[in-house]
Amino acid sequence: MAGIEEQLNNQKMLYREIFVKSENEIKKRFEELRPDKISDDLLTKFAPDSDGENWQKQCLELLNGELSKEVYDKMLEILAYRKMFKCSGCATCCNLACSEYSYEELKQKAQNGDNFAAQFTSVFVPYENINEARAIYPEYVDLVTEKTGGKIYFYHCPKLTAEKRCSDYENRPQICRDFPDNPLDILPEKCGFCAWKEEINPVALMLHSLIAIIEFYKQKLTEVMS
Ligand code: SF4
Ligand code: SF4
Repeated sequence: MAGIEEQLNNQKMLYREIFVKSENEIKKRFEELRPDKISDDLLTKFAPDSDGENWQKQCLELLNGELSKEVYDKMLEILAYRKMFKCSGCATCCNLACSEYSYEELKQKAQNGDNFAAQFTSVFVPYENINEARAIYPEYVDLVTEKTGGKIYFYHCPKLTAEKRCSDYENRPQICRDFPDNPLDILPEKCGFCAWKEEINPVALMLHSLIAIIEFYKQKLTEVMS
């Protein structure tokens, strides 16, 4: 079996390939809208109300409308397919929840109205240090730390019993019911959703790249058109 570093490199290579393919697809859609008289790059500063600027407007509409909807619909499909898989009750997500934010940052976000952060801090408390988290499941903690470059915090839920059961199952927050809802989340090997993640990985990477490219062009077009 490939080591963590090899897996990471393979994943990065695959993502790069998918990113280039996604960008070419989007550029093809821009080209379909290109007026005959225009040969300049899409991100050129055109005169107001010119053919060039109208082309940019159409491309912006495409990004905000059709393309964003395609991404959203595909994401819903992926999440619907997740229902075909089952939690195996390993309790890792209760015992080793991770976030790129510290507890203080999450509390602040919750105070500012972030619903996810509010739910997260309503159940999870931070480990005192990384060694405490490592004692639970060292391979998983090492994998997550490696993949995130170390910028990660581990949490546990006091509602988890010694028998690895939720003591407040009926009232668990939505984030517990929905986990894992991000196909790019790093899952422990024991998780019942690993097969789902593996199967949809190329589509999830494609959607991730599309979102990044759509955001890039939306920002650049808005800048040149202002
Ligand atoms: S509330 Fe229950 S399901 Fe949610 S993290 Fe805690 S123990 Fe797990
Ligand atoms: S990590 Fe996966 S299998 Fe384990 S409790 Fe969470 S959802 Fe279930």
